[in-house]
Amino acid sequence: ELAAEAMAPIAPGRLADGTSVPLLANLGDPAGAEEAVRLGAEGVGLFRTEFLFLGSETAPTGAVQEEAYERLLAAFPERKVVVRVLDAGADKPLAFLGGKHEENPALGLRGIRALRRTEPVLREQLRALAAAASRTYARVEVMAPMVATVEEAAWFAEAAHGAGLPVAGVMVEVPAAALLADRLLAAVDFASIGTNDLTQYTMAADRLLGDVAELQDPWHPAVLRLVGAVGDAGAALGKPVGICGEAAADPLLAVVLVGLGATSLSMSPSALAGVRAELLRHSAVQARAVAEAALGADGAASARSAAAEAVALR
Ligand code: PEP
Ligand code: MG
Repeated sequence: ELAAEAMAPIAPGRLADGTSVPLLANLGDPAGAEEAVRLGAEGVGLFRTEFLFLGSETAPTGAVQEEAYERLLAAFPERKVVVRVLDAGADKPLAFLGGKHEENPALGLRGIRALRRTEPVLREQLRALAAAASRTYARVEVMAPMVATVEEAAWFAEAAHGAGLPVAGVMVEVPAAALLADRLLAAVDFASIGTNDLTQYTMAADRLLGDVAELQDPWHPAVLRLVGAVGDAGAALGKPVGICGEAAADPLLAVVLVGLGATSLSMSPSALAGVRAELLRHSAVQARAVAEAALGADGAASARSAAAEAVALR
């Protein structure tokens, strides 16, 4: 009996009322794919492609990229796999992108901004991904990091669609993108909120600097309001809004994020079980109430306790 239980497939993510909330994995290397599947990942919500590029003097060849993408995609037949194009900048310097020294790397030529300056690198990455996708059965989606303007979003969607990748989205990790989410979403197929950077830029607190770690807290109601704005825009336009920052790995915060309109959650595979169990304890209406409680707080700590209290009061 025990063995049968151990073998039973892990149920997909859902709320107490049956509302589906796909639980996806954040991965940085195709080698992690099998473990993610074992832990119940229903797909991949963020595949960070930097691992292929870091430390290289030259961009990896299309063939090397195709092989890595194919290995990843083959582990998720019929499943959604969201691949993020190269997210480089002065903090993750890449010689072939010309990374000059910058005084404020977090505010510099990074993500989509760097790719627009070195378009052939992006075109080759999109081509390699489309080629790998054509040889597997995964439902591939592609997204761009650090998008700040509608124009960048539209430019990226056109490049991805033109390369034969029909589903193209943007990460929302800059407050400007969250504030213009309705316009951004009109130009792309989905949004995925990167709460790590969205918190850094909303709170103006360097995510790498321990001295301001207290401000780097996604429970801050300022961050939650921005997440809610993106959720509202997604609902109005009927487009998916995922979460792929570390916030999705905190079970109580995951409930809040769903209450704010997130339609899927992506996290480190080790966090999937805890989030799956917590979501099952709340209906969509209850998740909305927990989110409202957090939104009404003045700070991160009080938002967390307000959400915990809203759960305990039921
Ligand atoms: C984020 O910023 O939340 C994110 C998921 O991207 P990264 O952590 O790779 O910057
Ligand atoms: Mg980021």
